[in-house]
Amino acid sequence: MKDHREAVLRRVDDTRDEIVDFAAELVRIPTVNPPGELYRECAQAIGNKLGPCGFEVQYLTAEDRPEHTPEYPRMNVLGLQRGRSDHPLVHLNGHTDVVPAGQGWTVDPFGGLVRDGRLYGRGSTDMKAGIAAAVYAAAALGRAGVQLEGSVEVSGTVDEESGGFAGMAWLAETKRIARGRTDYVIIPEPLNVDRICIGHRGVYWFKVSAQGKAAHGSMPFLGVSAIEQIGAVLESVRNELAPALAERTTEMPVVPPRARRASININAIRGGQAGQDIQSPCVADRCEAIFDRRLLVEEDIEQARREIIELLDKLSRNNPNWHYELTDLMTVHPVRTPDDSPLIASLTRSIDQVLGRKPELIASPGTYDHKHVKGIAGVEHCVAYGPGILELAHQADEYCLIEDLIHSTKVLALTILELTGTR
Ligand SMILES: [Zn+2]
Repeated sequence: MKDHREAVLRRVDDTRDEIVDFAAELVRIPTVNPPGELYRECAQAIGNKLGPCGFEVQYLTAEDRPEHTPEYPRMNVLGLQRGRSDHPLVHLNGHTDVVPAGQGWTVDPFGGLVRDGRLYGRGSTDMKAGIAAAVYAAAALGRAGVQLEGSVEVSGTVDEESGGFAGMAWLAETKRIARGRTDYVIIPEPLNVDRICIGHRGVYWFKVSAQGKAAHGSMPFLGVSAIEQIGAVLESVRNELAPALAERTTEMPVVPPRARRASININAIRGGQAGQDIQSPCVADRCEAIFDRRLLVEEDIEQARREIIELLDKLSRNNPNWHYELTDLMTVHPVRTPDDSPLIASLTRSIDQVLGRKPELIASPGTYDHKHVKGIAGVEHCVAYGPGILELAHQADEYCLIEDLIHSTKVLALTILELTGTR
């Protein structure tokens, strides 16, 4: 085993330049989402690496999803390297989409520039370096001549930044990732090279619509203002609900620590007449607000919804003319990897071996594709671990340290080796 480990680590060192080149090649494919540009080209770039390394490559397009169009095909790629047995199967998954570049760049966001030990570009950290690490970690085993007992799979999936429904969720729905088939899933999201992410908080997105009664603006007492109704909701949220949520804390090691509390954000508000137009004197009869409630692993979505219903009921009880409608927009259950998961133990040992220190276990304040792995595929053993600095994701001048990229490739390779076993 020790010989295998050394051979694999040497193999990663030997392919160092190739790994960096491949990550840069991926950055140069601007897979911007929305709308979902160049997914096919990116899937093929990944498939073209996996194929020659002995992976059976499949291109899987989520044609039945509404976001799939001929112009923006939702193409995923899946490569399987069979060992002697189908199990254990270790699956490494990265999302191929990136958020738009935005303003403030001092380098070309899609140039794939390598300078001073860093790879720059949109998606360098989130998460094309992670995909390169996954591909080269999985490939290093075969290239080092290691015969695996179990099997290893690498996927590049679309749309994580917009929910992952045509990507990881779809692979889970179509049983490509499934309990009984898939034993371990590692998602190399950028959470820092010495941290393992063991889950994330939950989400309850909802819309509150108020129905008022229009009247002439000179006689507002004849109407019912929907804007005032929503104003009262905002006040209750700020003065009652938000302070109550801030009292609730989680046992999960969410980073940053301030995110260890339940929270609510007002995402949007729309009401009355359009702002730029010429105004007419009217009492607003429609207004709506969209909220983003983040749940701790100790909470559940039903309870969060009940709290909102009670808040709205109280307001309409006190004001009989006030009417609200609550619409759920999105729900994500919080997830947590079991403490005794072999995945955590194996990654911990590998990180210690490569970096000479014990990793920190953390949880994400947001969500990522872990939710689909647990929620749809039913696979318990899933973590996020990969190169890149969390705080740089989605920022101008995003970069990934080359050193992190190589280190995490080694960590992933050792982890696959340990989990799949050799003979
Ligand atoms: Zn990401």
